[in-house]
Amino acid sequence: MSKDPEENKLERLLKDGLTSLWRKEKSEHQTTKGIYYPSYIGSCLRKQFYIYTVGESVTSEELAIFMTGKGVHELVAKAFGEIVKVESVEEKISLELTDKIKLSGRIDIIIADIEGKKYLIEVKSASKIPDSPYESHMLQLHAYMQALKFEEGYLLYWNKRSGEIRVFKIIKNDEMMKKLYERVAMLDYYISINSPPPPESYQNGKIWECRKCPYLNLCNPGPV
Ligand code: SF4
Repeated sequence: MSKDPEENKLERLLKDGLTSLWRKEKSEHQTTKGIYYPSYIGSCLRKQFYIYTVGESVTSEELAIFMTGKGVHELVAKAFGEIVKVESVEEKISLELTDKIKLSGRIDIIIADIEGKKYLIEVKSASKIPDSPYESHMLQLHAYMQALKFEEGYLLYWNKRSGEIRVFKIIKNDEMMKKLYERVAMLDYYISINSPPPPESYQNGKIWECRKCPYLNLCNPGPV
């Protein structure tokens, strides 16, 4: 059945609007060598290299995931706010790793005050609740814990299909901090020499990440 032009028009307008919202959000992310982002650092290093050297772009699938995640985050903050005191839903952080490298950005994190104790909560929407938290999310949370001086934090997964919720308590640990620092240093090194790192996601068997990667053609890691 051929589509009515008005149907196409509405679909196109929504996509353009979503892209515009995404651009506004990302305009706070400078891609300047030496300033890196906790929310990216656990993802494929090669993809991050392209973001810094080619420019940031997004596929329509990534856009949908980003917007859904944002909506879920706002909803969770609002729901907590009904019951407890939510102190913050956005925090600016800056974590100096060396005199030339830092992790920076305005982050979406919930800080809730529950009976006098402050909880640092990072919300993730997913199509399936994992049995254990993803390492990339733990790295991200470690950056926040270090910057905001928390010794523990929480990863809250929300299944966007079923509404199931699962919270994992994460204690800050040296091993994860070391990994975080090493990844930032590695990314900075590859950007310095202007040469892409190995195709990490592909080599680690995360082909689904490659399929939705906006740099797939440029990266050309192998059959996907
Ligand atoms: S295609 Fe895969 S390996 Fe290459 S940059 Fe993208 S996510 Fe990384």
